[in-house]
Amino acid sequence: MGNTEQQYVKDAFDTNWIAPLGPNVDGFETEFAELVGSDYAAATVSGTAALHMALRLVGVGEGDEVLCSSLTFIATATPILYQGAKPVFIDSDRSSWNMDPELLVAEIEKRAKQNRLPKAVVVVHLYGQSADLDPMIEICDRYEIPLIEDAAEALGADYKGRMPGTLGRCGIYSFNGNKIITTSGGGMLVSNDELLIAKSRFLATQARDPAPHYQHSEYGYNYRMSNVLAGIGRGQIQVLGDRVEARRRNFERYQAALGDFPGIEFMPEAAFGRATRWLTALTIDPEWFGVDRETIRLSLAAKQIEARPVWKPLHLQPLFDNCERVGGKVSEDLFERGLCLPSGV
Ligand SMILES: *Cc1c(COP(=O)(O)O)cnc(C)c1O
Repeated sequence: MGNTEQQYVKDAFDTNWIAPLGPNVDGFETEFAELVGSDYAAATVSGTAALHMALRLVGVGEGDEVLCSSLTFIATATPILYQGAKPVFIDSDRSSWNMDPELLVAEIEKRAKQNRLPKAVVVVHLYGQSADLDPMIEICDRYEIPLIEDAAEALGADYKGRMPGTLGRCGIYSFNGNKIITTSGGGMLVSNDELLIAKSRFLATQARDPAPHYQHSEYGYNYRMSNVLAGIGRGQIQVLGDRVEARRRNFERYQAALGDFPGIEFMPEAAFGRATRWLTALTIDPEWFGVDRETIRLSLAAKQIEARPVWKPLHLQPLFDNCERVGGKVSEDLFERGLCLPSGV
């Protein structure tokens, strides 16, 4: 925590706003929208909840297909299942480890000819680094496909002068305990579309029609953030810059110590932006380095140091056994050889 979170939480207690909604929620949303450079923001109970509403709000429903990054945490794709839709997984490129824009463009062009365009695209910004958004936005705009950005891991990153999460139709962030700033649990949906955000607030509070009695014409969710946790968020916003610099220093220290070993390659920083290095990740080539990733991970574990393999690509998850995939070799290789080092600030 920084220095001001407790004051905001105290304000919530002093004014007896121990509730979902309240002045901290309003303040957090306004301050967050300004921080990331988006017109509107809605605070939610989690990043997953924000992504679920994003999919519903752009019209994803039963039986629809959604193109989705494969190399990511499961929560990028589970909301697609909540909507009864089918993910189609797209492989990574080597320069950002994120969705390969050439594969995405080719897949959409192919589907356009077959008259089976996807209902949406969900792109992740992995480990604090933006995906290469421009070609993705261009192809999605051309075919009027909504682009949803999962920026849960990339708050504070840069893509050509803008923050990833704010360039597509809508974007989501997470304030789970392990993210770069945290409210212990929480999320945010952002968009420049005022109606979309207004509708998300409606859905997140049980979709109550404007009537004095409780009337409902469609179903909603209980997805709004509490006023106490939003207070933590308001304080955390003030330390985001420090947190990004601290994460980058972790990375630089690891790189200075390990970067010259043969067979060690750090996750590259793509030329189009600046990563937060939320996690420091590298790959180990056993032929050059002498031992493989698992040997290193297990010997660290024996010393009580927790390092983890890079995300297992979703197209390899048993849950998605019968889902379509586009490519896959790059993310499989990153999973096979990739290691995330301890990266806390
Ligand atoms: C953490 C995370 C989420 C989910 O956020 P929660 O707030 O934990 O629901 C989604 N996508 C990615 C890539 C994440 O790392």
